[in-house]
Amino acid sequence: MLLFGLFDHIVKQVASEVARQVSIAGREVAQEASRKIMNEAMEVGKEQVKNLGRTVNLNMVKGNKEKLVTEITRIAGKYNGELTVPIVMTEFDMPESEAERSLRLLASKDICFAREGMDDTTVYIFPGFKPRKTIKLCEYCDNRFDPKDMKEPDCPSCGAVLITADVYE
Ligand SMILES: [Zn+2]
Repeated sequence: MLLFGLFDHIVKQVASEVARQVSIAGREVAQEASRKIMNEAMEVGKEQVKNLGRTVNLNMVKGNKEKLVTEITRIAGKYNGELTVPIVMTEFDMPESEAERSLRLLASKDICFAREGMDDTTVYIFPGFKPRKTIKLCEYCDNRFDPKDMKEPDCPSCGAVLITADVYE
């Protein structure tokens, strides 16, 4: 309804401008002018409709938790599976508290997990978008090895049995 109203408004403006042109100049001049005005109006309209559409979408998303979860997860793909509160604030035009709450909600559903990044920021990792690699891991001393380098089943540092694990790069 809102979108139709906006187009309606633009068309009315164009029509009144055309009427004005007809009264000032001849019909041909007016037709040429009206074409130009219409094109410009449609360009402006397209941009406004796009922005309006985005706002409507954002409001729909914000009011709907399920949709928000889906949308944030989709955005995570765009950022290589790593989101921060500032990114979500920008993408969804949200206050900090809401962005943080949304990411925590996703973490509580195991869609992502929080990891302390550099300079004390929390990075939310979405494993679905992260490349994985298989490593040999020592659970005792936490050393990690490339399976290709490990001929022996034991940890070279402490002698414990190594386990095979999938980790995110
Ligand atoms: Zn070890």
